[in-house]
Amino acid sequence: MASKIDLHIHTTASDGTMSPEELVGRAKRAGLGVLAVTDHDTMAGVDSAVSAGAALGVEVIPGIEISTDYRGEDVHVLGYGLDAAHPALREVLNWVQEDRRRRNERIARRMQADGIHISLAELEAEHPGATIGRPHFARVLVEQGRAQSVSDAFHRFLDPGKPYYLPRTYLPIARGIEIIRRCGGAAVLAHPLQYGYSPAELRRLVAEAAAFGVAGMEIYYTGYDAGQRGALSDLAAEFGLFATGGSDFHGANKPQIVLGALDVPEQCLTDLKAWLGRAGV
Ligand code: AMP
Ligand code: ZN
Ligand code: FE
Ligand code: FE
Repeated sequence: MASKIDLHIHTTASDGTMSPEELVGRAKRAGLGVLAVTDHDTMAGVDSAVSAGAALGVEVIPGIEISTDYRGEDVHVLGYGLDAAHPALREVLNWVQEDRRRRNERIARRMQADGIHISLAELEAEHPGATIGRPHFARVLVEQGRAQSVSDAFHRFLDPGKPYYLPRTYLPIARGIEIIRRCGGAAVLAHPLQYGYSPAELRRLVAEAAAFGVAGMEIYYTGYDAGQRGALSDLAAEFGLFATGGSDFHGANKPQIVLGALDVPEQCLTDLKAWLGRAGV
């Protein structure tokens, strides 16, 4: 049996709950032969995952998921096959991490003012080198019995408009796409149906992202049905984008997403590799 593929996975380098090594072991047991590690705004988990993959016979594609600003909304761009050590990438990611840190300090202060026991220093010590974001605050709220689950914590405290939500300064989408390309990677529009757009708005997003240099679009994604995949495939074909697919596995932070449960066609990997090959990577 051909092994399965999953091109969208988070580890403890961002807001997943499995370390890169643990993830690769679980992926192997779940029948995955190829996976991409795509942590939010960091590639800190990639090296460990690649080493673990080499030992276990699982191919690990270096990746990232960058949060960008598209017309005031938080739109995610995936990058594949990019050089984690590229100075331009390091510079941009340092800027993003500093911005996140300032925001995290403000979130922690707001929570403290409400009598919640939280320390950003402790959180950082518990998650060394990780992109700390709202999911980490959500877990603290769950651990302290103030929320039933991570998604309950988002719903009541951390979603936009809720008491512990604070905006960040997002990278403009054009810049996110450009940096991935400059560092030798393929830029892919992540989970296009997660932004709440009408068909016309989505079409505009795809058109503009394609004009900025996006090469692919995520079409196979946890929860997308055949009709939705069909509509997305048509849109991708119209703008000359290849299809990719991934589960967006986060471990216990999104317990409804199960490793190995999503079917991603082999063609996605073939097309991604062909694109990277043509780009001379
Ligand atoms: P941040 O980047 O810090 O603003 O956090 C946003 C991230 O939180 C998203 O990329 C998701 O991975 C995660 N997230 C958003 N909403 C939820 C939710 N309801 N349950 C679990 N994770 C969520
Ligand atoms: Zn996440
Ligand atoms: Fe995302
Ligand atoms: Fe993701």
